[in-house]
Amino acid sequence: STTTYKRYDVEKYKTPTGSALQCKGWVQEAALRMLLNNLNPDVAERPDDLIVYGGRGKAARNFESLDLIIKALKDLNEDETLLIQSGKPVGILRTHKDAPRVLISNSQLVPKWATWEHFDELEKKGLMMYGQMTAGSWIYIGSQGIVQGTYETYAAAADKHFGGTLKGTLNVTAGLGGMGGAQPLAITMNEGVALIAEVEEWRIDKRLETKYLDIKLTDIDEAIDRALEAKANKEVLSIGVLCNAVHLLQRLVERKIVPDTLTDQTSAHDPLIGYIPHTLTNEQANVLRKENPQQYIDLSYDSMKLHVELMIELQKMGGITFDYGNNIRARAQERGLKNAFDFPGFVPAYIRPLFCEGKGPFRWAALGGDPADIAVTDELIANMFPENKSLQRWLKLAKEKISFQGLPARICWLGQGEREKAGLAFNELVKSGKVKAPIVIGRDHLDTGSVASPNRETEAMLDGSDAVADWPLLNALINTAGGASWVSLHHGGGVGMGYSIHAGMVIVADGSDDAAVRLSRVLRNDPGMGVIRHADAGYDIAKDTSRKFGLDISERLK
Ligand code: NAD
Repeated sequence: STTTYKRYDVEKYKTPTGSALQCKGWVQEAALRMLLNNLNPDVAERPDDLIVYGGRGKAARNFESLDLIIKALKDLNEDETLLIQSGKPVGILRTHKDAPRVLISNSQLVPKWATWEHFDELEKKGLMMYGQMTAGSWIYIGSQGIVQGTYETYAAAADKHFGGTLKGTLNVTAGLGGMGGAQPLAITMNEGVALIAEVEEWRIDKRLETKYLDIKLTDIDEAIDRALEAKANKEVLSIGVLCNAVHLLQRLVERKIVPDTLTDQTSAHDPLIGYIPHTLTNEQANVLRKENPQQYIDLSYDSMKLHVELMIELQKMGGITFDYGNNIRARAQERGLKNAFDFPGFVPAYIRPLFCEGKGPFRWAALGGDPADIAVTDELIANMFPENKSLQRWLKLAKEKISFQGLPARICWLGQGEREKAGLAFNELVKSGKVKAPIVIGRDHLDTGSVASPNRETEAMLDGSDAVADWPLLNALINTAGGASWVSLHHGGGVGMGYSIHAGMVIVADGSDDAAVRLSRVLRNDPGMGVIRHADAGYDIAKDTSRKFGLDISERLK
């Protein structure tokens, strides 16, 4: 590709660890470490292309930009802010100590031009990059981040449909990529059987290595039979089957086997890079993608339409079917499938009630690189929220089953009030020396108040405000004003160009008093935006949360 001219160098881009600084302050140091951590080969899907996850979600535009960002972060003073425009550093401007050290804008296009076609043109000219969500905002922590979100979704599905556990259920899906690779573990953590189609063998092998997946099979019928046997025996098992998702679903329909749950996590948001049509072998796909991208996209669309038709057919046969945020329904609709939205997205189906309480994917990493620091934070969180049963179960299972990738990190869903409490407590741990180095706190953009994405996070809002994108913009602005360490505003994450606008924030707990003030502001305001957004849309849980935490403007102005 014209946008890269070097390859990833393991020594040169190694994440610094320990407590010695390479930058002029811990906030800049945190940005440097998290950027390099995003690209660590144990974390990133394709470091040679600077791709972290999610099809082509990158951390920097090209290696030249990466080198410049590293240099800039090392040079950056405590009253300056580095500006990143789609993965390229473009300026260092004067701000102040409490301002973000880095402000990032990725993949933004004026709405009328916001298509993959136009984006591809710009990317080819080296003018833009795709930031996905946490790739371009330097707070991806490997598959753990998404294991937690997926665990929450399947736990909510288990509560809603199967009495609180997936034991004895068959859960079918596809895609074992950067995020989809979390599905088998999330399903087995909820005690179910997972049957997952994946076309690329190395992806299956990668998930086997990290123990996210139990077994690999290459014959579709054998895989189905093994899954049915496990279901009947109430075994907890995940199976990766080497095949195209369409072929697995066709066989299920032919054999009249109805999954208990059915979804998909192929990268359908990106028809050229992320989705492999069932009519091509992998080798053919790799050639055609380069030689005739338009024909590739055409075949991709045909395949996705059939894929969704098969999902609807299995739904009609009784399978609980949901879209898992890859925009496959919209692709099928664009190809003329009128009833593509017959099955719901996972947010309205399972996640929105959590968003109404300001709950979302709170995560943190130990900047010193010592796993013992995360053990200290795990214990603190477990003691802090003893009444939260699913959090307790998650922490226990995460410790057992999740191997760290890159800097040791943890994630758990915390709500309004809880995030501020946790952040301040982490700062105290740093101050008192109970952890050896500062802790960096962040979140996914898939959160309560930070995203407008009508086919995913804001699908089917109560008041029809699905496409209103003022909210993520306000979110980035308030986090900037509150003094987050770095703030990012992206377009197209998760669901592709034209379909979403979303914001990220990261904040460092370095043990200082200044940090405590910033943490308190940012970790109150950030989920608070989500509570306000959902209260404004009319959700009662959000209205109650808003009153409880003093976020309700009408009460304030009474
Ligand atoms: P990725 O590009 O790393 O992985 C996609 C995987 O799908 C690859 O392993 C690829 O080989 C496989 N694949 C492609 N076409 C296939 C086909 N037809 N049959 C079988 N396998 C196929 O992407 P990722 O980070 O794993 O994310 C996957 C998708 O899920 C993205 O669209 C992402 O935005 C979405 N996603 C949404 C959420 C969410 O909203 N909760 C969470 C995770 C991922």
